[in-house]
Formats: sequence, C-alpha cells, structure tokens
Amino acid sequence: MSTEIQAELQTQVERRRNFAIISHPDAGKTTLTEKLLLYGGAIHQAGAVKARRAQRHATSDWMEMEQQRGISITSTVLQFDYKGFQINLLDTPGHQDFSEDTYRTLAAADNAVMLIDAAKGLEPQTRKLFEVCRLRGLPIFTFVNKLDRPGREPLELLDEIEQELGLATYAANWPIGMGDRFKGVFERSTQKIHLFERSAHGQREAVDTIIDFGDPRIEQLLEQDLYYQFKDDLELLEGVGSELDLEEVHEGMMTPVFFGSAMTNFGVEPFLNAFLEYALKPTPHVSNQGEIEPTYPEFSGFIFKLQANMDPKHRDRVAFVRVCSGKFEKDMTVNHARTGKLVRLSRPQKLFAQDREVIETAYPGDVIGLNNPGVFAIGDTIYVGQKLEYEGIPSFSPELFAYLKNPNPSKFKQFQKGVQELREEGAVQIMHSADESKREPILAAVGQLQFEVVQFRMQSEYGVETTLELLPYSVARWVVGGWEALEKAGRLFNTVAVKDSWNRPVLLFRNEWNVGQVEADHPELQLNAIAPVVS
Ligand code: GDP
Repeated sequence: MSTEIQAELQTQVERRRNFAIISHPDAGKTTLTEKLLLYGGAIHQAGAVKARRAQRHATSDWMEMEQQRGISITSTVLQFDYKGFQINLLDTPGHQDFSEDTYRTLAAADNAVMLIDAAKGLEPQTRKLFEVCRLRGLPIFTFVNKLDRPGREPLELLDEIEQELGLATYAANWPIGMGDRFKGVFERSTQKIHLFERSAHGQREAVDTIIDFGDPRIEQLLEQDLYYQFKDDLELLEGVGSELDLEEVHEGMMTPVFFGSAMTNFGVEPFLNAFLEYALKPTPHVSNQGEIEPTYPEFSGFIFKLQANMDPKHRDRVAFVRVCSGKFEKDMTVNHARTGKLVRLSRPQKLFAQDREVIETAYPGDVIGLNNPGVFAIGDTIYVGQKLEYEGIPSFSPELFAYLKNPNPSKFKQFQKGVQELREEGAVQIMHSADESKREPILAAVGQLQFEVVQFRMQSEYGVETTLELLPYSVARWVVGGWEALEKAGRLFNTVAVKDSWNRPVLLFRNEWNVGQVEADHPELQLNAIAPVVS
C-alpha cells in the first residue's frame, strides 16, 4: 500500500468527528441540530431542518405511512464542515419513531451529545440511550438546554447526572441566573463571561458579548444577589468539583457539561468548539482480527441499519454502513464476511437529510448508504483484503410485545416468509412462547412504530393482512446461562419465559418492579437487558 494513501487516510481521520445526540423528546434536539448546522454553513437559515421536513411531506413520494402519520421514519446523517473539521451528525430517530434503530445508530457513533432540558433533568429516553452509550464506552458531552427559561439549580442537575448515571461531571461553563434573569455563562477554560442579551427582534438570537472575569463592570451588569450567588457557586465548583480529565472523558466516565440555550443560539458555538477540541476522532473497532485502526489501509465497515421502502417505486432497501477503515470508492468490490460473497458497491449514497446524492469516496467515521439487494443484515461486515469480521450489534430490550396473527390460513406461507425476512432485516425482534402449542410469533419492539412498519410491510410486500394481540409486558431480560440456569432457578412468579430467535430464554415482565422481585427472590439468576450477539 502506498504511503500516499496512508497519508490521505491520516489527514481524513484527523479531521473527522462523528456524534449522535441522545435526548428525550422536546429537549431541543431539532433546534440544536439546526443551530449546529448553521455554523457549518450547511443550511443558511435556522428553521430549515423543519421546513425541509414539512416540504418533504407535502411533495413526498416516500413511504405512504410516513405521509399518513406525518412522521419521519428515516434517520440520516448530517455532514458539515466547520473550521477544517468534517462533522458527521448521526440522527437518532426519536419521538413516535423511537425504535431499535435509535440504539443501533449509537453503534456507529464515536461520541454522544447528551441534551438535557434544564427544567426536567434526566428523562427516560435519555437514560435508556445513555445505557447503550455506556455499553460502548462512548464519550459523552452534555448540553443543558433552555437556560432562558426557569429551570432547576445547576448544581442539582450535575448531582443528578453523577448519582443516577454514575458519570463524573466537569462543568465547562457555569450559568449566571436563569429564566428571565439569565445573564450569561462563565467559560472556565478562558475565564471569560459570555453575556446573554436578548436581541431586539423576536428574541430568537442572543447577542453574545464577552468580557473578562476580572472586568469591574461585572458587578454592575449583574444584579447583586446573582453576582454573589455566582461567586459562591464558583467557589464551590473549584473546591469540590473535579478537574477536567480528558482520559476519563474519552472512556465515558466523565462528561463535560455546558449550559446554554439552543433556541436563542446562546452557548452553541462555544459548545461546538469545545466538542471539537475534546471529542474522539474515528476510533478503532473490535474485530475477530483484533482492533482495526481507521488508518488500516484496506476498506472495511459494518452495517448498522437497514431501511426498506425509502422509495416505494423502486422497492429499494438501503443498508447504512459505518466506514471503519481505509478508503471507500464508488464501484469498488468488497467481500461480504457472513456469506463469503463478493459484492460490488455500485450505487453508494451520501445521506444529507433526505437528499440522496451519489458519493465517490468516503473515509473512516463516515456513513454511506448502499442499495441492498437483500444481501445485507444488521451487523454484517464488508471488507477488502485480509478477512475480518466486526463484532455484531446486540439486541436491545424490547418494551412492547404482541402476537402477530394471520387470520387467513391460505396466506400461511407468505406470512412465514414475511416474518422471517423482517426479522432477519432487524425490523423487529421475534420471540415465541415456550409453550409449543402456541405457534404465533411474538413481535417484540422498542417502539410502537415498529409494529406499524411490520404490519404495513406484511401487507404491502407479502400481501398478508395481519392482526395484533398486545401482551401486557413492558420489560424483557435475557437469562445468563440459558435454559439450564432458568430451570435451576425453579418456579418464578410474575414473569413468563419465552424464547428468542436463537432459542434463548427471555423473561417478560409487566414492569421493572417485577424484575426487582424476581432478582431479589433468585439472587443466583443473572438477567441481562441487552442480548449478547450471536456469532
Ligand atoms: P426535540 O423534540 O428534542 O427535537 O425538540 P425541539 O427542538 O423540537 O424543541 C422542543 C420545543 O422546545 C420547541 O418548542 C422549541 O422551540 C423549544 N426549545 C428548544 N430549545 C429551546 C431553548 O433553548 N429555550 C426555549 N425557551 N425553548 C427551546
């Protein structure tokens, strides 16, 4: 391999930063995304992300269901340049379209931004996504949003993160006042105060005036009680707060915390600058040949998400690939690790919002979309050169369960085929009752949308009208040690055992409380919320 390509890879890896935002609906993810894109010059007008979405729905020929529901099923990658960096923002589907794909997207990310509403603190969806980040050891950058509105005490928020997530915090900046009395933030690395002033028109953009910490004007600018409160807080922070430890940040053990207001665009730019300084560049990935460095000269990557029916006219399927090493070039032929086949990647796509443009090259840290003629499954590796296979993507604890029924016996074959293919594709998890007489598949999903997608596709692609019978469970746990361990535990109350697609026992519970009960009654039983990968 020429030194030329190695130098090229080195340069491209150095300038790439990739991240996903984890948050609960309404924390401000769309707003923050828009503001970040503004700095990259990717869109020139705040509001464009939403506007595009609206426009797309008006004219869209996308999945019928998307139109009917007015939601976006597709998660995409937003790519923008800023200060010489190329930033890839992996969009994690949220809201009603929360699904297992949301978790899988994190498998393709090198960093996560945890966005928190200052008034609400940690919320359920954020906690769940955090668990997945923790599993992967992703560095987490926290942005506490909506400081222009009354919220909870900053120290209390830090405490919540530390106590509940077991994540050390480092306040990178500190807010002065909040809500109507929000005066700005003190940036600790530069010892400067960024003053928040609502701009004259519409209050959508804040004016950012920066003064030195020692500036005598501070006392006049801030009301006295705020000034003293701020001084007290700072003393406390310097006294008991930890120092910024980048190694811990990179291991996902400490999170730098930033306070700001995405809507008024206050604190977003300093956040972006700090993120670029501290975030990990594309990281090595674990394979059966050991860790593969992004600068390894041969191309390799893995599929983390499949998307069907993006364009119903073509019935195409797109496989989203995270590039892990080497250089991707249009039309290249790669090996498909699972089947041993050669595949030519002829119509690669770069994904910017919903526009799909054909790409010529991609580098580690990038995501490309490949037209998937049914060859790819979630977790598959593609590579050039020496054979290698990346660790697969685990199954995440589903929260919704339902029997999928086919009322029409003459459609039996299509029904079976559909269920099997949708499972292989990762659209939904399939489980079965441990009771052999109950043959109907149990759909197990992370979000309601997955059920709808399955029913919709069963009908449109396999011609089977299905019905659902919801089951009263909301938590699944895999039993470590399999059936043997389960048998040893003897009779369990308030849970039912089913089997997953690999015939492994899974316990279903009505709620977390029941999980706690079973765990307390059977300390010898080990339960997992995330299923290990089957290789
Ligand atoms: P998402 O559901 O996380 O994508 O949240 P959105 O970006 O759609 O924001 C949810 C709501 O919070 C919207 O009404 C936003 O205008 C509002 N919002 C977002 N950021 C801020 C902020 O910094 N301050 C205030 N006051 N409102 C905000």
